[in-house]
Amino acid sequence: MSEEANPFESLQSQVDDAAEYLDVGDDVIERLKHPERVLETNLTVELDDGSLERFTAFRSQFNGDRGPYKGGIRYHPNVTRDEVTALSGWMVYKCAVVDIPFGGGKGGIVVDPTEYSDSEIERLTRAFAKELRPFIGEDKDIPAPDVNTGQREMNWIKDTYETLENTTEPGVITGKALDSGGSEGRVEATGRSTIIAAREAFDYLGRDLSDATVAIQGYGNAGWIAAKLVEDRGADVVAVSDSSGAIYNADGFDARDVKAFKNETGTVSGYSEANEEFTNEELLTLDVDLLIPAALENAIDADLAEDVSADVISEAANGPLTPAADEVLATEDVLIIPDILANAGGVTVSYFEWVQNRQRFYWSEEKVNEELEGIIVDGFDALTDAYEKHDLETLRQAAYIVAIQRVVDSFEEAGSFP
Ligand code: NAD
Repeated sequence: MSEEANPFESLQSQVDDAAEYLDVGDDVIERLKHPERVLETNLTVELDDGSLERFTAFRSQFNGDRGPYKGGIRYHPNVTRDEVTALSGWMVYKCAVVDIPFGGGKGGIVVDPTEYSDSEIERLTRAFAKELRPFIGEDKDIPAPDVNTGQREMNWIKDTYETLENTTEPGVITGKALDSGGSEGRVEATGRSTIIAAREAFDYLGRDLSDATVAIQGYGNAGWIAAKLVEDRGADVVAVSDSSGAIYNADGFDARDVKAFKNETGTVSGYSEANEEFTNEELLTLDVDLLIPAALENAIDADLAEDVSADVISEAANGPLTPAADEVLATEDVLIIPDILANAGGVTVSYFEWVQNRQRFYWSEEKVNEELEGIIVDGFDALTDAYEKHDLETLRQAAYIVAIQRVVDSFEEAGSFP
């Protein structure tokens, strides 16, 4: 984690790199490197003891050429304007890669939610929803969960918005609980897209995912679902980890049993079927067929990248490789499925949730999974087409080229106003 870049500058350089392959003017590219607008607001909230506290919050609406802004809201003490802005830009390109009709947005509140009671978090969330109300709506900007927010916060935002607007509009926000208009399949969607994309990558290489050995960093929502689904396809999940460390068994783990152990004890460490325990760094350098980073951003830096031995990496986490690690691995024989495709299942099923909310007609889990499969497979094919056409080094470059071309097309077709 030695070379952490300013995320907004990283985003801008990714756009510049992709633009070199496209027949697009600098003036249009300049537009795609800056947010359309960023709301910065100060929320004054009453605490349980009757005192008041001020919290800073942001909502960045990066680009809406392809549809309403879409992206999560995070609660974290390290939230900054630059981080929120960069994340909103990545949402533009993620939605464009999977070709769903959304632009990109992101929001955040500078807060450590563990220091506040549930009722304080509810008042804070409702205060933010009140500020956001003029800017959001099912045709304008549709927030979703992110770090330290979930169904509970989404339900509060929906309720605040609907109360103030005197309407019912569940599509104003996604990631809701099922009884509040959520979608079947949403919880599993990120791990599912990670594995669908990995299967496509193995096919592309003329190999079979069912014969693969797999290591997974992080055993939370994305990591454990990926473990379960890849095991169901016949692969051997030989190593998994969480913040407590990594466990290894050359014959493969029973993913559900590891999850039951983690639910009981809080960690994967100490699981009885492990032959060996080691560090997260050792897990990331294991000689496996498939590596799935599903924990934190910047998990693999340039030094560690030198030792990565996996053949395929499917990025469940956002930004698990530093830009320098990416450069190292681009010269190695490893196929990396970029986060903006591999973990796009989450936003894709959010799109399905919004579609169902608008239709007031709800789909079965089978239908959700079938539609998701088609979208991720089409996304992977678009990437490999661009990869071959431009003779690129990485699928990440391909993803940005495909995404930026799609955003540029919709901008140019619409023309500039005024
Ligand atoms: P989560 O909080 O459910 O799980 C995170 C896991 O990572 C936990 O098991 C935690 O113990 C582990 N972890 C934390 N620090 C670690 C470390 N230093 N080494 C190893 N493991 C560590 O989170 P999640 O929802 O599974 O998200 C994981 C990643 O996937 C994040 O980067 C997130 O942005 C990305 N993502 C998630 C979704 C989603 O729908 N859940 C969608 C898109 C992207």
